[in-house]
Amino acid sequence: MTPKELAALLESEGAPRFRGAQLFEWLWRHHADHYRNISVWPEKLRQHMAERYPLTRLTRVESQVAHDGTTKLLLRMADGQRVETVLLPHRYGYSVCVSSQVGCAMGCKFCASGLKGRVRQLTAGEMADQVAFGNQVLSERGAKISRIDVMGIGEPLDNFDNLMRFLEIVHDPAGFNLSYRHITVSTSGLVPAMKKLADSGLPVTLAVSLHAPNDALRLQLMPVNRAYPLAKLIPMCRYFVETTGRRVTFEYLLLDHVNDGEAEAHQLGELVRGFPSHVNLIPWNPVDEHPFQPSPKERVRRFQSIVQEYGISCTIRRELGQEIDAACGQLRLREEEQVSP
Ligand code: SF4
Repeated sequence: MTPKELAALLESEGAPRFRGAQLFEWLWRHHADHYRNISVWPEKLRQHMAERYPLTRLTRVESQVAHDGTTKLLLRMADGQRVETVLLPHRYGYSVCVSSQVGCAMGCKFCASGLKGRVRQLTAGEMADQVAFGNQVLSERGAKISRIDVMGIGEPLDNFDNLMRFLEIVHDPAGFNLSYRHITVSTSGLVPAMKKLADSGLPVTLAVSLHAPNDALRLQLMPVNRAYPLAKLIPMCRYFVETTGRRVTFEYLLLDHVNDGEAEAHQLGELVRGFPSHVNLIPWNPVDEHPFQPSPKERVRRFQSIVQEYGISCTIRRELGQEIDAACGQLRLREEEQVSP
C-alpha cells in the first residue's frame, strides 16, 4: 500500500492516520517483518494489526553470485510462488532488476519466463520487497540500490495498477527515495498501457522490447505484435517522448541469422531515427528450450555500426553474470523442474 492507503487503513481500524506513515516507514526503512518490531506503536495496536493483517515478507530460496558481483536471487512469496530478482553492479553502484508477475502471458519465443504462461500478478508490496531484499543483501557489501529496472519476469504494463503503486512506494522519501529518472519500465509493446504511463506524467525511462525491425519478423518472435504492430507501437513511443520529455530505449536481442543481418540493421535505423531514442543491443543468453544461437561478435559490431550511421545512439549491453543462469526466468524454471520433474 502507498502511505495514503495505509493512513486510510489505520483510520478504518480506529487508529490515528499518522500511524499509517509510521507503518510505511517501518516496512521499507527498517525492514520490519513483524508488528512487534514497530517500537513506536502501542502494544494493543501491534496485536490488533497482527491479527487482522499478518505481515509477510519475501524469503530466499536460492542465490547465485557471479565473479563480477552480479547476484541472482530466487525469492519465495507467502503463497509459495517464486520470483527472480537480479542485482547488477555498475560503475555508479547497483541496479536491481525487478519481476512484476509470476510467469508471463506474452509468449515471446526467445524467453524462458513465458514458457509456462502467467501464473499471477505480483502485488506492489511484493515488487517493493524485491528492492528491500536486494538492499539487505547489498548492505553486507557496503552498497545499496540506486537504480531500478522493472525488466525481470513478467510484462509490467500488464500489471499496470500494481506497477503504479510500486513506483509511488519506491519514489517516496520514506520508502526508497529513488528518483523516477533512475527507474526504467520495460514493455513488450502494450500500446494502450504505454499511453496510460505517458499520461501519468511520471518521468521514468521506457524500454521497449523491439527485437525485430519489421512486422513479419517481429510477429514470429513476439505474438504481441499481432495486436500492436509497429505502425501503432512506434507512434506511441514518439507520444511517450513528447509527453514525458524522456527518451525511449529500444531493446534488441541479437539472434544469429534471425534478426542480426545488415538488412535488419538498416530497417532498424530507418524505423527509430528522428526522435530521442537509444538502441540497446543484447547478446543472446542461450535457453535450452529455444533453438536460437548467439550472434558472433563481428556480426554484433557490424549491426551496431550500421545503426549508428543513422545518427542513433546504439550500445551493446555488457554481459554480466555469465557463469550463472543469466537469462530471465532460468533460475525459476530450473528450480521448478527439480521440485516437480
Ligand atoms: S520477454 Fe518479457 S514480455 Fe516476453 S515472455 Fe519474456 S517476460 Fe514476458
